[in-house]
Amino acid sequence: MSNPVYLGRVNIGWCDECNVPILGERCDRCGSSPRKVSVTPPGEFKFPLQGDWNILDIAFSDVLKSRFSDVFSNYLVLLNRIPGPDRTEEVIVGGNVIATILHEDLSVRVSLRPEFYYYASEYLKDIFIVADNLAARSIINGSNLMAPGVKSIGREVKKGNDVIIMDEEGKPIAIGISRIDLNNFFERGMAVKIKFIFSGDNVNKKHSSLREAIEANRSYMEREENRAIEFLKRFREKNLLVSFSGGKDSLVSLHLSLRAGLKFKTVFLNTGLEFDETIEYVKRISEHYSLDLDIIDAGDAFFKHLEHFGPPGRDYRWCCKVCKLGPTTRYIKSLGNEKIYMIIGQRAYESRSRALSGNIWENEWVPNQIGISAIQKWNSLMVWLYIFRHDLEYNKWYDRGLWRIGCFMCPSQDLADLEIVSKFPVYDKWRSFIDEYSKKNNLGEKWVRYALWRWNKIPDYLKKRYNVNDKVRESLKFYIKDDGNKLKIVPNKNIDMNRLKNMMHILPRAALNEDLEVHRNFIDKAMQVIYQSEECVGCGICTGRCNYNALYINEGRVWVDEDKCIRCTKCLGPCPAYVFR
Ligand code: SF4
Ligand code: SF4
Ligand SMILES: [Zn+2]
Repeated sequence: MSNPVYLGRVNIGWCDECNVPILGERCDRCGSSPRKVSVTPPGEFKFPLQGDWNILDIAFSDVLKSRFSDVFSNYLVLLNRIPGPDRTEEVIVGGNVIATILHEDLSVRVSLRPEFYYYASEYLKDIFIVADNLAARSIINGSNLMAPGVKSIGREVKKGNDVIIMDEEGKPIAIGISRIDLNNFFERGMAVKIKFIFSGDNVNKKHSSLREAIEANRSYMEREENRAIEFLKRFREKNLLVSFSGGKDSLVSLHLSLRAGLKFKTVFLNTGLEFDETIEYVKRISEHYSLDLDIIDAGDAFFKHLEHFGPPGRDYRWCCKVCKLGPTTRYIKSLGNEKIYMIIGQRAYESRSRALSGNIWENEWVPNQIGISAIQKWNSLMVWLYIFRHDLEYNKWYDRGLWRIGCFMCPSQDLADLEIVSKFPVYDKWRSFIDEYSKKNNLGEKWVRYALWRWNKIPDYLKKRYNVNDKVRESLKFYIKDDGNKLKIVPNKNIDMNRLKNMMHILPRAALNEDLEVHRNFIDKAMQVIYQSEECVGCGICTGRCNYNALYINEGRVWVDEDKCIRCTKCLGPCPAYVFR
């Protein structure tokens, strides 16, 4: 979530009568119109589960005498995951953001909002500064608190942390970041940088629960669910598969497909990087609903190709191609030549590319597959309300504090999320690989500690912050020599001619010869063929593009059946070995 994404309206209101979030125009419990809630876009919500409560308890431990989960146990708490350098969440209570949880460098802190005080005043640690009346008046008029205006300072005030400012009568007037503490008290200069002035508006201390939130959103959810079911029914005559990954979105998508009465086969793609609990869960749910389940198994593709590609990154997702799209292509090809409609729990809120794809899309990497999503426009509050409304069993990794579940070491995860996963044995093999890789390539201890392998090209601000370099990968490179008569491709290393002689069958006869002389019109295609010949990792994606079954995988590489190939070059589409060269 490093890059801000704004993928649509923040679709949430609040019923102040019932003290619950409202997605539609009206609260189903009391009939009142919701008040708009002001949160940071894009608006991805969740009710805290066990792991989230643990994080909240730790984050607020500097601020509260009791555990956050105890202080707020009678309120309906909602989290909103927002863009930030690492895991960042707004905490919403009573329809107001009361604090933001910020993870940084493997620790967590909170940034408080004034409303927090009204809920937690009895439990607050000594994080108060009393301002004299003159200073208090200036604060209300927009000034910061200067050192001479400080009358007294609480024992638990920490430099750099949030502090509550009181006037001389003990009335809270503002929240700010303290520049002082008991041991670092200056005579001059700014003592507290003010962030928010107290207003006390809209503080709702009425107790409420998840059950009430479900009731309050009943008709909105029914409408959206019916809309999704009607959308799915449009595909009932098609060749249908439902992709079930073990995550919450695919669970909802699967459940909607069942309710739509569709006939389908369910597929689970085991990337080889799944949690054991996910595999068990998928099997259990399949049994529960008597599904016809096919498991597509990528085997050890990931670890086998790590040597070649190096660690994957957010900007270098060879893993998706090799462990997901390749096996899916091979599976779809095994079903015959008919178009397959794959029902996928994709939501626009997840990423920009997903937002752009619409609810029916083709993927250039997976020939013959049309993706369809019935929940494209849902936010995650709708997904969670659906799960609780229908009492569905969800993957237990959500209880451990993850927002999204997929490959255990996915490079798109934030450091704080990886930290949760890294406490479990599933991470051990990956940790050893990264340690080894870092030593071999001299990348340093911080590269490992802050999981900087998540980028191929590390963002400049992180490079400066941790004083680290990018990982470098030696790969095949070419230049083109032009002597006026002919063009020649000159590689930086020897080419395996036996393989190239076979792969050259993809190209028209005059396009490339064994001296690597190339026809002007075929430079790009010839380069791709040489790459594929040298660097193929056997993912099988290109085999799905050949209508003549002229490509096959042998010993981890693709080969051309020279009798079948008609040299049409249609197989030269996206290839991970070429794209991630
Ligand atoms: S050439 Fe190899 S790596 Fe490229 S798409 Fe084909 S099988 Fe995959
Ligand atoms: S798509 Fe098939 S027939 Fe066409 S060039 Fe490639 S391997 Fe040959
Ligand atoms: Zn209500």
